[in-house]
Amino acid sequence: MKIVLIGIQGAGKSTQGNLLSKKLSIPYLSTGHIFRELAKEKTNLGRYVKEVMNAGYLIPDKKTVSIVEEYLKRPEYKNGYIMDGFPRTVAQAEFFNNGADKVIYLKVSDEEALKRLSFRNGDNGTREDETPSAIAKRIESFHKLTEPVLDYYRKKGSLIEIDGEKTIEEIHGKILKKLNIR
Ligand code: AMP
Repeated sequence: MKIVLIGIQGAGKSTQGNLLSKKLSIPYLSTGHIFRELAKEKTNLGRYVKEVMNAGYLIPDKKTVSIVEEYLKRPEYKNGYIMDGFPRTVAQAEFFNNGADKVIYLKVSDEEALKRLSFRNGDNGTREDETPSAIAKRIESFHKLTEPVLDYYRKKGSLIEIDGEKTIEEIHGKILKKLNIR
């Protein structure tokens, strides 16, 4: 099964993605993680990715799509995946065409996401790309660029909307129920 998780930063995508991955024995992958690894490389691409990420902008579609395409060729993803962070624009979704059987939207308000992120940073130390201005930019681009992706999948009939402001266990249970998994 190919599952995509969509939600604002702080919505709990990686928490729920990892729980689902364990439950379904399907690998989890996140484009944010892929880009953070790339940003560590002392190459032109690495430096470019780091700069764009730290400013809170999206990596251009063409680059993102070719990187994701390369990743998904790996044998571990042959039987499915839980994808976190892609697609984030309609252009990416169009490219991804048959890449998602089900799309789970974890719905959390901007206020709740900001509260969780400030708690997360206070807890673990700030991630380099989690400055207040980068977070604000990401929320803005979610509304502008990623919300249309929700409509795209809603029209296809593959969107599952989940209230992300419940406990981790409740949300996990609701996702399983909507996927018809016991
Ligand atoms: P995330 O951990 O999902 O919040 O991603 C961190 C950063 O990686 C984002 O702010 C973007 O700069 C970049 N990124 C992750 N996924 C994508 C994507 N699908 N398209 C463009 N940029 C992305």
